[in-house]
Amino acid sequence: MSLQLTKLESPRVAGYEEVWVAKDPDASYHAILAVHNTRLGPALGGSRLMRYAGEDAALTDVLRLARGMTYKCAAANIPLGGGKSVILEPPNGYDRGALLRAHGRAVESLNGRYVTSVDIGTGPVDMVTIRETTTHVTGLPNELGDPSPVTARGVVRAMEAARYVRTSSRDLHGVRVAVQGCGHVGAALARQLHALGARLIVSDVSSDRAETAAAECDADGCRPDEIYDAEADVYAPCATGATLNARTIPRLRASMVTGAANNQLETSADGDALRARGITYVPDFIANAGGAIYLCRVLAGWTDAETDAAVESIFDSSVEVLRRAEQEGISAQIAAERVVEARLDISATEDWGSPD
Ligand code: NAD
Repeated sequence: MSLQLTKLESPRVAGYEEVWVAKDPDASYHAILAVHNTRLGPALGGSRLMRYAGEDAALTDVLRLARGMTYKCAAANIPLGGGKSVILEPPNGYDRGALLRAHGRAVESLNGRYVTSVDIGTGPVDMVTIRETTTHVTGLPNELGDPSPVTARGVVRAMEAARYVRTSSRDLHGVRVAVQGCGHVGAALARQLHALGARLIVSDVSSDRAETAAAECDADGCRPDEIYDAEADVYAPCATGATLNARTIPRLRASMVTGAANNQLETSADGDALRARGITYVPDFIANAGGAIYLCRVLAGWTDAETDAAVESIFDSSVEVLRRAEQEGISAQIAAERVVEARLDISATEDWGSPD
Protein backbone atom coordinates (compact mmCIF):
# COMPACT_ATOMS: atom_id res chain seq x y z
CA MET A 1 0.00 0.00 0.00
CA SER A 2 1.50 3.31 -1.04
CA LEU A 3 0.27 6.42 0.72
CA GLN A 4 1.07 9.66 -1.08
CA LEU A 5 0.80 12.91 0.84
CA THR A 6 0.93 16.37 -0.75
CA LYS A 7 0.84 19.51 1.37
CA LEU A 8 -1.31 22.29 -0.11
CA GLU A 9 0.20 25.76 -0.07
CA SER A 10 -2.33 27.75 -2.16
CA PRO A 11 -3.80 31.10 -1.01
CA ARG A 12 -7.03 29.21 -0.35
CA VAL A 13 -5.45 27.48 2.62
CA ALA A 14 -4.01 30.66 4.15
CA GLY A 15 -4.94 30.77 7.83
CA TYR A 16 -4.87 26.96 8.10
CA GLU A 17 -1.98 25.28 9.89
CA GLU A 18 -1.76 22.39 7.41
CA VAL A 19 -3.86 20.91 4.64
CA TRP A 20 -2.93 17.62 2.97
CA VAL A 21 -4.16 15.75 -0.07
CA ALA A 22 -3.75 12.03 0.64
CA LYS A 23 -3.97 9.29 -1.96
CA ASP A 24 -3.47 5.56 -2.09
CA PRO A 25 -4.40 4.31 -5.56
CA ASP A 26 -4.26 0.65 -4.43
CA ALA A 27 -7.06 1.38 -1.96
CA SER A 28 -9.02 3.78 -4.24
CA TYR A 29 -8.28 6.32 -1.50
CA HIS A 30 -8.37 10.07 -2.18
CA ALA A 31 -8.90 12.43 0.76
CA ILE A 32 -8.13 15.88 2.10
CA LEU A 33 -7.12 16.41 5.74
CA ALA A 34 -7.26 19.95 7.12
CA VAL A 35 -5.90 21.21 10.42
CA HIS A 36 -7.20 24.73 10.97
CA ASN A 37 -5.94 25.63 14.43
CA THR A 38 -4.31 23.75 17.31
CA ARG A 39 -3.72 26.63 19.71
CA LEU A 40 -6.05 25.14 22.34
CA GLY A 41 -5.25 21.47 21.68
CA PRO A 42 -5.16 18.77 19.00
CA ALA A 43 -7.51 19.41 16.10
CA LEU A 44 -10.71 17.39 16.45
CA GLY A 45 -12.90 16.73 13.44
CA GLY A 46 -14.76 13.81 11.92
CA SER A 47 -14.02 11.90 8.74
CA ARG A 48 -16.68 12.58 6.12
CA LEU A 49 -17.06 9.96 3.39
CA MET A 50 -19.21 11.05 0.48
CA ARG A 51 -19.32 11.68 -3.26
CA TYR A 52 -17.91 15.02 -4.35
CA ALA A 53 -18.00 16.66 -7.77
CA GLY A 54 -14.20 16.76 -7.52
CA GLU A 55 -11.23 17.70 -5.35
CA ASP A 56 -12.14 21.38 -5.45
CA ALA A 57 -15.59 20.77 -3.97
CA ALA A 58 -14.06 18.50 -1.33
CA LEU A 59 -11.51 21.19 -0.45
CA THR A 60 -14.25 23.81 -0.01
CA ASP A 61 -16.10 21.45 2.32
CA VAL A 62 -13.14 20.40 4.43
CA LEU A 63 -11.84 23.96 4.90
CA ARG A 64 -15.23 25.26 6.04
CA LEU A 65 -15.80 22.33 8.39
CA ALA A 66 -12.30 22.43 9.93
CA ARG A 67 -12.62 26.12 10.66
CA GLY A 68 -16.07 25.54 12.13
CA MET A 69 -14.60 23.00 14.55
CA THR A 70 -12.01 25.54 15.75
CA TYR A 71 -14.77 28.04 16.52
CA LYS A 72 -16.96 25.44 18.21
CA CYS A 73 -14.18 24.20 20.51
CA ALA A 74 -12.90 27.68 21.34
CA ALA A 75 -16.40 29.01 22.04
CA ALA A 76 -17.01 26.11 24.43
CA ASN A 77 -13.62 26.63 26.11
CA ILE A 78 -12.54 23.07 25.48
CA PRO A 79 -8.89 22.06 25.04
CA LEU A 80 -9.23 21.02 21.42
CA GLY A 81 -8.58 22.66 18.09
CA GLY A 82 -10.33 22.41 14.74
CA GLY A 83 -9.74 19.98 11.90
CA LYS A 84 -11.63 17.76 9.51
CA SER A 85 -11.05 15.19 6.82
CA VAL A 86 -13.11 14.35 3.77
CA ILE A 87 -12.75 11.17 1.75
CA LEU A 88 -13.94 11.40 -1.85
CA GLU A 89 -16.07 8.29 -2.18
CA PRO A 90 -14.94 6.33 -5.25
CA PRO A 91 -17.60 6.23 -7.98
CA ASN A 92 -17.32 2.46 -8.46
CA GLY A 93 -17.11 -0.52 -6.13
CA TYR A 94 -14.29 -0.32 -3.60
CA ASP A 95 -12.92 -2.17 -0.59
CA ARG A 96 -14.23 -0.12 2.37
CA GLY A 97 -11.77 -1.70 4.81
CA ALA A 98 -8.75 -0.92 2.61
CA LEU A 99 -10.00 2.64 2.08
CA LEU A 100 -10.46 3.27 5.80
CA ARG A 101 -7.10 1.72 6.71
CA ALA A 102 -5.43 4.01 4.15
CA HIS A 103 -7.25 6.91 5.82
CA GLY A 104 -5.97 5.78 9.21
CA ARG A 105 -2.41 5.88 7.85
CA ALA A 106 -2.96 9.44 6.61
CA VAL A 107 -4.36 10.47 10.03
CA GLU A 108 -1.40 8.76 11.74
CA SER A 109 1.04 10.73 9.58
CA LEU A 110 -0.10 13.91 11.37
CA ASN A 111 1.27 12.51 14.65
CA GLY A 112 -1.72 13.43 16.81
CA ARG A 113 -2.06 17.02 15.62
CA TYR A 114 -5.39 15.80 14.19
CA VAL A 115 -7.84 13.40 15.89
CA THR A 116 -10.64 11.96 13.81
CA SER A 117 -14.12 10.68 14.60
CA VAL A 118 -17.43 9.92 12.89
CA ASP A 119 -19.20 12.20 10.43
CA ILE A 120 -21.55 11.90 7.47
CA GLY A 121 -20.87 8.57 5.76
CA THR A 122 -18.88 7.03 8.61
CA GLY A 123 -19.95 5.42 11.88
CA PRO A 124 -18.49 3.88 15.03
CA VAL A 125 -17.74 0.56 13.29
CA ASP A 126 -15.66 2.39 10.67
CA MET A 127 -13.64 3.96 13.50
CA VAL A 128 -12.66 0.45 14.58
CA THR A 129 -11.20 -0.12 11.10
CA ILE A 130 -9.43 3.25 11.14
CA ARG A 131 -8.06 2.32 14.59
CA GLU A 132 -6.10 -0.52 12.92
CA THR A 133 -3.74 2.06 11.41
CA THR A 134 -3.89 5.04 13.77
CA THR A 135 -4.34 5.68 17.47
CA HIS A 136 -5.68 9.19 16.82
CA VAL A 137 -9.32 8.26 16.52
CA THR A 138 -12.35 8.49 18.78
CA GLY A 139 -16.06 7.74 18.39
CA LEU A 140 -15.54 3.98 18.69
CA PRO A 141 -18.51 1.78 19.68
CA ASN A 142 -19.07 1.59 23.45
CA GLU A 143 -16.37 4.20 24.04
CA LEU A 144 -18.77 6.86 25.22
CA GLY A 145 -22.19 6.20 23.81
CA ASP A 146 -24.32 8.58 21.79
CA PRO A 147 -23.45 12.24 22.47
CA SER A 148 -26.78 13.46 21.06
CA PRO A 149 -28.66 13.82 24.39
CA VAL A 150 -25.75 15.97 25.63
CA THR A 151 -25.87 18.04 22.46
CA ALA A 152 -29.60 18.45 23.03
CA ARG A 153 -29.02 19.58 26.62
CA GLY A 154 -26.65 22.28 25.36
CA VAL A 155 -29.30 23.43 22.87
CA VAL A 156 -31.80 23.72 25.73
CA ARG A 157 -29.33 25.91 27.67
CA ALA A 158 -28.88 28.11 24.57
CA MET A 159 -32.67 28.35 24.16
CA GLU A 160 -33.00 29.42 27.80
CA ALA A 161 -30.37 32.09 27.12
CA ALA A 162 -32.32 33.42 24.12
CA ARG A 163 -35.46 33.63 26.25
CA TYR A 164 -33.52 35.21 29.10
CA VAL A 165 -32.14 38.09 27.03
CA ARG A 166 -35.63 38.77 25.67
CA THR A 167 -37.69 38.39 28.86
CA SER A 168 -35.25 38.17 31.85
CA SER A 169 -36.65 34.69 32.52
CA ARG A 170 -35.07 31.46 31.35
CA ASP A 171 -38.17 29.41 32.05
CA LEU A 172 -39.29 27.49 28.97
CA HIS A 173 -42.59 26.39 30.47
CA GLY A 174 -45.38 27.09 27.96
CA VAL A 175 -42.91 28.27 25.29
CA ARG A 176 -43.81 26.90 21.84
CA VAL A 177 -40.89 25.26 20.05
CA ALA A 178 -40.94 24.03 16.45
CA VAL A 179 -38.37 21.24 16.12
CA GLN A 180 -37.18 20.49 12.59
CA GLY A 181 -35.76 16.97 12.40
CA CYS A 182 -36.55 14.24 14.94
CA GLY A 183 -33.29 12.34 14.62
CA HIS A 184 -30.72 11.72 17.34
CA VAL A 185 -30.57 15.29 18.61
CA GLY A 186 -34.02 16.55 17.60
CA ALA A 187 -35.87 13.71 19.35
CA ALA A 188 -33.76 14.11 22.50
CA LEU A 189 -34.35 17.86 22.41
CA ALA A 190 -38.10 17.38 22.09
CA ARG A 191 -38.12 15.02 25.09
CA GLN A 192 -36.06 17.40 27.24
CA LEU A 193 -38.22 20.40 26.30
CA HIS A 194 -41.39 18.42 26.98
CA ALA A 195 -40.05 17.61 30.46
CA LEU A 196 -39.56 21.36 31.02
CA GLY A 197 -43.17 22.08 30.08
CA ALA A 198 -42.55 23.52 26.59
CA ARG A 199 -45.19 22.99 23.91
CA LEU A 200 -43.90 21.28 20.82
CA ILE A 201 -44.44 21.14 17.09
CA VAL A 202 -42.33 18.49 15.39
CA SER A 203 -41.52 17.64 11.79
CA ASP A 204 -39.33 15.17 9.95
CA VAL A 205 -39.10 13.96 6.37
CA SER A 206 -39.46 10.53 7.96
CA SER A 207 -43.10 10.43 9.06
CA ASP A 208 -42.28 7.53 11.42
CA ARG A 209 -39.78 9.63 13.34
CA ALA A 210 -42.11 12.62 13.47
CA GLU A 211 -45.00 10.48 14.71
CA THR A 212 -42.89 8.79 17.39
CA ALA A 213 -41.62 12.14 18.68
CA ALA A 214 -45.13 13.62 18.60
CA ALA A 215 -46.51 10.70 20.59
CA GLU A 216 -43.70 10.80 23.17
CA CYS A 217 -43.89 14.54 23.70
CA ASP A 218 -47.56 15.25 23.28
CA ALA A 219 -46.58 17.39 20.29
CA ASP A 220 -48.36 18.58 17.18
CA GLY A 221 -46.88 17.46 13.88
CA CYS A 222 -46.44 19.55 10.78
CA ARG A 223 -45.32 18.89 7.22
CA PRO A 224 -41.58 19.40 6.72
CA ASP A 225 -42.02 22.39 4.42
CA GLU A 226 -44.45 24.10 6.83
CA ILE A 227 -42.14 24.28 9.83
CA TYR A 228 -41.02 27.85 8.99
CA ASP A 229 -44.62 29.07 9.14
CA ALA A 230 -45.41 27.31 12.42
CA GLU A 231 -47.03 29.37 15.18
CA ALA A 232 -44.07 29.02 17.51
CA ASP A 233 -41.83 31.12 19.76
CA VAL A 234 -38.69 29.19 18.84
CA TYR A 235 -37.59 27.54 15.61
CA ALA A 236 -35.13 24.73 16.41
CA PRO A 237 -33.28 23.51 13.30
CA CYS A 238 -32.03 19.99 14.00
CA ALA A 239 -31.83 18.51 10.50
CA THR A 240 -29.61 19.92 7.76
CA GLY A 241 -27.59 23.12 7.30
CA ALA A 242 -28.54 26.38 5.54
CA THR A 243 -32.19 26.33 6.56
CA LEU A 244 -31.91 30.02 7.50
CA ASN A 245 -31.86 31.81 4.18
CA ALA A 246 -33.54 34.48 2.06
CA ARG A 247 -36.46 32.14 1.35
CA THR A 248 -37.18 30.98 4.91
CA ILE A 249 -36.33 33.94 7.17
CA PRO A 250 -39.24 36.11 5.94
CA ARG A 251 -41.61 33.22 6.74
CA LEU A 252 -40.52 32.68 10.35
CA ARG A 253 -43.09 33.52 13.00
CA ALA A 254 -40.73 32.53 15.80
CA SER A 255 -38.88 35.28 17.64
CA MET A 256 -35.98 32.97 18.60
CA VAL A 257 -33.87 30.44 16.67
CA THR A 258 -31.81 27.87 18.53
CA GLY A 259 -30.97 24.41 17.25
CA ALA A 260 -28.37 21.71 16.76
CA ALA A 261 -27.81 21.71 13.01
CA ASN A 262 -24.38 22.79 11.79
CA ASN A 263 -24.03 25.83 9.52
CA GLN A 264 -27.61 27.02 9.88
CA LEU A 265 -27.06 30.31 8.03
CA GLU A 266 -26.81 29.96 4.27
CA THR A 267 -24.69 33.13 4.11
CA SER A 268 -23.53 35.62 6.72
CA ALA A 269 -26.09 38.10 5.30
CA ASP A 270 -28.75 35.79 6.73
CA GLY A 271 -27.44 36.62 10.21
CA ASP A 272 -28.14 40.29 9.45
CA ALA A 273 -31.58 39.40 8.09
CA LEU A 274 -32.48 37.66 11.36
CA ARG A 275 -31.31 40.69 13.32
CA ALA A 276 -33.28 43.05 11.07
CA ARG A 277 -36.42 41.02 11.82
CA GLY A 278 -35.72 41.19 15.57
CA ILE A 279 -35.20 37.43 15.82
CA THR A 280 -32.84 36.29 18.57
CA TYR A 281 -30.47 33.73 17.08
CA VAL A 282 -27.94 31.70 19.06
CA PRO A 283 -25.21 30.77 16.56
CA ASP A 284 -25.02 27.06 15.88
CA PHE A 285 -21.44 26.53 16.99
CA ILE A 286 -22.32 27.94 20.43
CA ALA A 287 -25.63 26.06 20.80
CA ASN A 288 -24.50 22.65 19.54
CA ALA A 289 -21.14 22.32 21.31
CA GLY A 290 -22.44 19.68 23.76
CA GLY A 291 -21.32 16.80 21.55
CA ALA A 292 -17.77 18.14 21.31
CA ILE A 293 -17.75 18.83 25.06
CA TYR A 294 -18.78 15.22 25.67
CA LEU A 295 -15.72 14.00 23.73
CA CYS A 296 -13.48 15.72 26.27
CA ARG A 297 -14.19 12.76 28.54
CA VAL A 298 -12.01 10.59 26.34
CA LEU A 299 -9.78 13.20 24.72
CA ALA A 300 -8.99 15.30 27.78
CA GLY A 301 -9.88 12.92 30.63
CA TRP A 302 -12.67 15.16 31.91
CA THR A 303 -14.81 13.98 34.81
CA ASP A 304 -18.62 13.95 34.75
CA ALA A 305 -18.64 17.14 36.81
CA GLU A 306 -16.30 18.95 34.41
CA THR A 307 -18.35 17.83 31.43
CA ASP A 308 -21.63 18.90 33.06
CA ALA A 309 -20.23 22.30 33.99
CA ALA A 310 -19.07 22.90 30.41
CA VAL A 311 -22.46 21.96 28.98
CA GLU A 312 -24.25 24.19 31.51
CA SER A 313 -21.92 27.08 30.59
CA ILE A 314 -23.50 27.17 27.11
CA PHE A 315 -26.15 29.33 28.80
CA ASP A 316 -23.53 31.92 29.83
CA SER A 317 -21.66 31.90 26.53
CA SER A 318 -24.93 32.33 24.65
CA VAL A 319 -25.94 35.28 26.84
CA GLU A 320 -22.46 36.83 26.36
CA VAL A 321 -22.75 36.61 22.57
CA LEU A 322 -26.34 37.90 22.44
CA ARG A 323 -25.51 40.85 24.70
CA ARG A 324 -22.43 41.70 22.65
CA ALA A 325 -24.49 41.60 19.46
CA GLU A 326 -26.99 43.99 21.03
CA GLN A 327 -24.34 46.37 22.32
CA GLU A 328 -22.35 46.49 19.10
CA GLY A 329 -25.36 46.49 16.77
CA ILE A 330 -24.11 43.41 14.90
CA SER A 331 -25.51 39.98 14.14
CA ALA A 332 -25.12 37.28 16.77
CA GLN A 333 -23.08 35.26 14.28
CA ILE A 334 -20.51 38.05 13.90
CA ALA A 335 -20.52 38.64 17.67
CA ALA A 336 -19.82 34.95 18.29
CA GLU A 337 -17.03 34.89 15.73
CA ARG A 338 -15.44 37.96 17.33
CA VAL A 339 -15.52 36.37 20.78
CA VAL A 340 -13.68 33.33 19.43
CA GLU A 341 -11.25 35.28 17.24
CA ALA A 342 -10.19 37.36 20.24
CA ARG A 343 -9.76 34.18 22.29
CA LEU A 344 -7.55 32.60 19.62
CA ASP A 345 -5.91 35.79 18.40
CA ILE A 346 -6.84 35.02 14.81
CA SER A 347 -8.28 37.35 12.22
CA ALA A 348 -11.69 37.08 10.62
CA THR A 349 -11.98 35.62 7.16
CA GLU A 350 -14.69 35.87 4.58
CA ASP A 351 -18.02 34.07 4.53
CA TRP A 352 -17.95 30.47 5.72
CA GLY A 353 -19.40 29.32 2.43
CA SER A 354 -21.83 26.69 1.42
CA PRO A 355 -23.93 24.56 3.75
CA ASP A 356 -23.56 21.11 5.30
P1 NAD B 1 -29.81 12.56 12.43
O1 NAD B 1 -29.42 12.14 11.05
O2 NAD B 1 -29.96 11.55 13.51
O3 NAD B 1 -31.20 13.37 12.37
C1 NAD B 1 -31.52 14.29 11.38
C2 NAD B 1 -33.02 14.15 11.13
O4 NAD B 1 -33.44 15.20 10.28
C3 NAD B 1 -33.43 12.84 10.45
O5 NAD B 1 -34.46 12.23 11.19
C4 NAD B 1 -33.89 13.27 9.07
O6 NAD B 1 -34.91 12.44 8.54
C5 NAD B 1 -34.38 14.67 9.36
N1 NAD B 1 -34.46 15.58 8.23
C6 NAD B 1 -33.61 15.72 7.18
N2 NAD B 1 -34.02 16.70 6.37
C7 NAD B 1 -35.16 17.21 6.93
C8 NAD B 1 -36.04 18.25 6.58
N3 NAD B 1 -35.86 18.99 5.49
N4 NAD B 1 -37.11 18.50 7.38
C9 NAD B 1 -37.32 17.75 8.48
N5 NAD B 1 -36.50 16.75 8.87
C10 NAD B 1 -35.44 16.49 8.10
O7 NAD B 1 -28.76 13.70 12.84
P2 NAD B 1 -28.47 14.23 14.29
O8 NAD B 1 -27.30 13.53 14.86
O9 NAD B 1 -29.73 14.32 15.05
O10 NAD B 1 -27.94 15.71 13.95
C11 NAD B 1 -28.85 16.72 13.55
C12 NAD B 1 -28.04 17.95 13.17
O11 NAD B 1 -27.27 18.39 14.30
C13 NAD B 1 -27.02 17.75 12.05
O12 NAD B 1 -26.92 18.94 11.30
C14 NAD B 1 -25.72 17.50 12.79
O13 NAD B 1 -24.59 17.87 12.01
C15 NAD B 1 -25.88 18.44 13.97
N6 NAD B 1 -25.12 18.07 15.16
C16 NAD B 1 -25.30 16.87 15.75
C17 NAD B 1 -24.57 16.55 16.93
C18 NAD B 1 -24.79 15.25 17.65
O14 NAD B 1 -24.39 15.12 18.81
N7 NAD B 1 -25.44 14.27 17.02
C19 NAD B 1 -23.66 17.47 17.45
C20 NAD B 1 -23.51 18.71 16.83
C21 NAD B 1 -24.24 19.00 15.68
